[in-house]
Amino acid sequence: MQPSAPSFYEATASRTVRPALTTRNEEAEVCIVGAGFAGLATALGLAERGVRDVVVLEAQRVGYGASGRNGGFVFGGYSLECADLLRILGPQDARAVYRLTLDAVDLIRTRAARYAIDCDIVNAGVILADWFGRPHALAAQRDLMRQSFGVEWEPISKAALRDRLKTDRYHGGLHERHGFHFHPLKYALGIARALDAAGVRIYERSPVLRIERSGDRHMISTPNGSIVARHVVVAGGGYIKGVYRPVERAVLPIATYVVTTEPLGARLSDAIACDAAVYDTRFSFDYYRPLPDTRILWGGRISIFERNARDIARLLMRDLLRVYPQLEGVKLDHAWGGFMSYARHKMPQIGRCADGIWHAIAFGGHGVAPTTAAGEMLAAAIAGERPIPAPFARFGLEPMYGRLGLAAAEATYLWKIAGDALAQRRSR
Ligand SMILES: Cc1cc2nc3c(=O)[nH]c(=O)nc-3n(C[C@H](O)[C@H](O)[C@H](O)COP(=O)(O)OP(=O)(O)OC[C@H]3O[C@@H](n4cnc5c(N)ncnc54)[C@H](O)[C@@H]3O)c2cc1C
Repeated sequence: MQPSAPSFYEATASRTVRPALTTRNEEAEVCIVGAGFAGLATALGLAERGVRDVVVLEAQRVGYGASGRNGGFVFGGYSLECADLLRILGPQDARAVYRLTLDAVDLIRTRAARYAIDCDIVNAGVILADWFGRPHALAAQRDLMRQSFGVEWEPISKAALRDRLKTDRYHGGLHERHGFHFHPLKYALGIARALDAAGVRIYERSPVLRIERSGDRHMISTPNGSIVARHVVVAGGGYIKGVYRPVERAVLPIATYVVTTEPLGARLSDAIACDAAVYDTRFSFDYYRPLPDTRILWGGRISIFERNARDIARLLMRDLLRVYPQLEGVKLDHAWGGFMSYARHKMPQIGRCADGIWHAIAFGGHGVAPTTAAGEMLAAAIAGERPIPAPFARFGLEPMYGRLGLAAAEATYLWKIAGDALAQRRSR
């Protein structure tokens, strides 16, 4: 495996080449910066509401960022824990805000079917596996989800989980059946094709350099062209830099990493004998899933650092073998990383600044469903259907203090990992 090897997703999806923006002062009703899930979902939400005079500007290629690199888990919730969401918003708003992500899970399934997007959907749910042997914590989580959020996460005993996941690492789990997993890049590219068909213009290799006010419109400039639009949506995830300070100063780019094994054939079921996606109860959890061609996709760790594929492979192989030592000797075919954008409060920032510019950013490591929810909210607001739900105003654009913030994030991460290790030692 070469350090520059493409991701498994890039290696298994076929791309349409789209042009770069080369015209000056091209007009549009709405201009969206970034063709990740947030930008694409906003564009499709607008097109589905009849607003088709929309341009999407992407610095690289569609799905280049986190949306085309992620673990492929599609499930309800946000990066902020549900218990914290409840504490901050209270019962009614917390439930309504959580509900938006469950609706988004359904909408992703519906859109994959409506636009005939073949994106390897596996409807087998998501399992939260108990790493520490804390049955009370698991039961409390289950009660919280049922009583406060109206969803049923099925308990799995230690023995039943051992039948599905052939490891002694876990002490039982909870199964969220409503979730699924998929090939995120194929989905992103499928949504882009649906946008092409609806008449939305997508320009690739067109990095936005500046957004300036021009009367009641905005001028959005790229190296070789510009758009004049009534509305602008900033959806640049953890990759945007030097374009729109009010949003960028409120997010930090944080990396996480993924590998895929070679196809394992019958050997897969020596380790994973179910189709669900799995993550565990640590702060720095592993997240993994079996792929339809019998590979395992394995993700984990967070850091402020970009790493090369060789280092990612070494670190994640160690993590994989810690859970499934019986897979000693399997080869990794792909290793990659990606940046997520995080806000201090761990909730997405969805709204509009005083200068009229809209934003959808800071989805963190739990963003597939929330970006789709955000796209619907922004599209409905821009189309004049309804305003952004008021609870999102509680999670404002708090400054993150650049490099100082990054250093603090890395220190917090190391502190939490130490906490995980201590908790594990106590649980033995
Ligand atoms: C490795 C990894 C694993 C993850 N696993 C999961 C998971 O299993 N489930 C889950 O729910 N979430 C997961 N996440 C999080 C989830 O992928 C993200 O929260 C979500 O995809 C964010 O979407 P986005 O559109 O905001 O950002 P992105 O997908 O990063 O898109 C932003 C886009 O904006 C473009 N851009 C930036 N600046 C400019 C500019 N100046 N001009 C034009 N374009 C620009 C970028 O090139 C990029 O394509 C994971 C993230 C990573 C990195």
